[in-house]
Amino acid sequence: MIAENRKTSTQASLLDGAVVANQIKEQVKREVAQLAAESSIVPCLAAVRVGEDPASAVYVRNKIRACEEVGIRSEHHALPASTTTAELLELVRSLNSRDDVDGILTQLPLPKGVDETVVIEEIDPAKDVDGFHPINVGRLSLGRPQLVPCTPAGVIELLDYYQIEIRGVSACVVGRSQIVGRPMSQLLLQRDATVTVCHSRTPDLAGVTRQADLLIVAIGRPGMIGAAHIKPGATVVDVGMNKLTEPSEVQRLFGSAAEKRLEAVAKRGYTLIGDVNQAEALEVAGKFTAVPGGVGLLTVAMLMKNTLKAAKLRRGLNP
Ligand code: NAP
Repeated sequence: MIAENRKTSTQASLLDGAVVANQIKEQVKREVAQLAAESSIVPCLAAVRVGEDPASAVYVRNKIRACEEVGIRSEHHALPASTTTAELLELVRSLNSRDDVDGILTQLPLPKGVDETVVIEEIDPAKDVDGFHPINVGRLSLGRPQLVPCTPAGVIELLDYYQIEIRGVSACVVGRSQIVGRPMSQLLLQRDATVTVCHSRTPDLAGVTRQADLLIVAIGRPGMIGAAHIKPGATVVDVGMNKLTEPSEVQRLFGSAAEKRLEAVAKRGYTLIGDVNQAEALEVAGKFTAVPGGVGLLTVAMLMKNTLKAAKLRRGLNP
């Protein structure tokens, strides 16, 4: 498969998410300090977590740590799994009404008993730093974005940092979720790419993705996108973040590079893999984001940027 669809030159170059994420956080840190010096305003992010999902606990911890790094105040509201929709709405309303809170995020997924949609729609759109409220979704689709979902916004920052052309290129987004795929396609459209969106009902997926100069994948299927899906020389951005626990799967997907990954599985029970088969992408693509080390780090950096932006917008300051 690789041999049939191989580009002629060397391996793809890696797009380093850490470099871009650090640059964004440094910029936010400078602006937060400037805001405090000029107007004594310190932005504040309230993170709400419900239940004991270990992954959610890690995500929220990382967000709080990033706030500390850049000088944003943070609050962590950890509620028990038994919390009802009504109780969560009450907390959201109280955070909406507080002038000292600039950003509100509810870590998803919420437990089954809580109505996620109702909760998201209760967040004040001006404090919706995840960009999931229908007002912010609508603004983005009208081409007048304010608070944009962090992961796709981070992908655009990554592409810009590496001066990868967006305007006029043939871009393909695989996945149409509210969190990644849909806003990603809107952001690319806004930047004048010609955008195709694929999903689980797309026939001949590889036939479509292989046309794209810019391929962005967010499907939650470990290593599914391989050489046959990639146009030789294309830029491939892998948003996927999946845990592999089966050594046989690790061996199959990482081949000769499996040794370190197998060590990780033996040590902590899993290794992280994206939606793209890394070995095959490195052979065919021109530029590629690794997992870990690619898009994942940008999401938290963009959350910091959104919180600062919300703090400024709410006070009529130029973001
Ligand atoms: P999601 O809500 O489950 O959506 C997955 C999308 O992929 C859906 O639109 C689905 O199509 C499509 N899809 C599933 N299987 C497919 C297939 N075989 N062929 C083509 N399309 C397929 O997932 P998500 O929240 O967007 O997340 C996607 C991945 O990104 C996950 O691995 C997640 O962990 C990762 N992620 C990473 C970050 C980060 O910070 N790096 C942030 C968010 C998500 P249908 O609509 O037809 O069902």
